Amino acid sequence: MPLQQQRPTGKGANQEAVRRHNLGTLLGHVHRDGDVSRADLTTRMGLNRSTIAALVGELERLGVVAQAAPRGDRQGAGRPSLHVRPGERQVCVIAVELRVESVELARVGLGGEVLGRASSPVASGATPEVVADQVARTASELLVDVPDDALLVGIGVGMPGIVSTEDGRIHYAPNLSWTDVAFSDLLQERVGGQVPVVIGNDANLGVLAEHARGVARGMSDVVYLSGDVGVGGGLITRGRSLLGTVGYAGEVGHMRISSEGRRCRCGNRGCWETEIGAVAVADALGTPSHDIAHLVSLLEEVRTPSLPLREVGYKLGVGITNLINIFDPQVVILGGLLSALYPAVRPDVDAEVRQGTLDSADRRTEVLLPGLGRDSVLVGAGELAFTAMMADPLLVVAEAERALQRVRVATTA
Ligand SMILES: [Zn+2]
Repeated sequence: MPLQQQRPTGKGANQEAVRRHNLGTLLGHVHRDGDVSRADLTTRMGLNRSTIAALVGELERLGVVAQAAPRGDRQGAGRPSLHVRPGERQVCVIAVELRVESVELARVGLGGEVLGRASSPVASGATPEVVADQVARTASELLVDVPDDALLVGIGVGMPGIVSTEDGRIHYAPNLSWTDVAFSDLLQERVGGQVPVVIGNDANLGVLAEHARGVARGMSDVVYLSGDVGVGGGLITRGRSLLGTVGYAGEVGHMRISSEGRRCRCGNRGCWETEIGAVAVADALGTPSHDIAHLVSLLEEVRTPSLPLREVGYKLGVGITNLINIFDPQVVILGGLLSALYPAVRPDVDAEVRQGTLDSADRRTEVLLPGLGRDSVLVGAGELAFTAMMADPLLVVAEAERALQRVRVATTA
């Protein structure tokens, strides 16, 4: 049962919890939509107009939202409902995507606006400490020109590996050769310990972003595939993230589709990612696999795919078919390198999916490219960093204010 429908029990503490929850829910609508009328908030949250007005007023006093007449205000016909938008005060997060070959960073404001971005290459075999140094340094560069009263409320990190939802530790990242790494602690030490750092699996964040702001907006059942060197799956079923017991669900790259095939970094043979990931694509194109951007541009030039590349397309189709038959999603979104692979071999993928799925002709799962392009995981990392703010804005703003009194992000280097 949603909290806002609970009747106060007369206990002050419970009423306070409900109020804080409602503040977070309301802020979540503003964050998601960027601009929402008070009338819409009343309907969506099932609260009366005066309660909504009071909640908006409280967030306005924090400076995180502002109210204004709707754009293109009409004359007469009664008083239009005021609209609520992100406020003048900059509330932002740092979004980080760790890729095998680079780190990508963005400063993202409330409402999802990207306020700045930076990228730097990662040396092959870089240790977690070296990468954390690099991320902290790049983050501090992104924060140089923020206004004095801006609030940095979190850092979100997406990475290609298995991340525990219990303690945020990276259990295993085969393609970075990292095992059991407390990366959030490493990064937090380097940013002065003041800003919460949260970390998530790249595909889980990709599906979150595409569901919030991309092609899967408003859908209930979504499969997102991140695919560069490794392949991961992010799953939403019935509107909720499917994470498994401790967050390890969705490792579809290690779905075994052949008893032979190449040896995988996980130790098994015939894993899906060895058949459709960057190494397989590079082999089919007759080029080295380490430069993903180069692979993307080669795939974009493909007019008539070679037989080896068509074979990769067929195996992409086999795995997608399995996922459709298991999860019955409305869409399968192909992220990372797969978003360049699919257009090059689309007939082979589509033929396999059509032939192998149990969908009926009038209701087929669509295979789509990400609405956010290469940014799905980065946008998802920003959404992850904002999660605490949407749960309890009073608490998060108070903590960010305290941090502001002490130090802004500074590297320990
Ligand atoms: Zn494997």
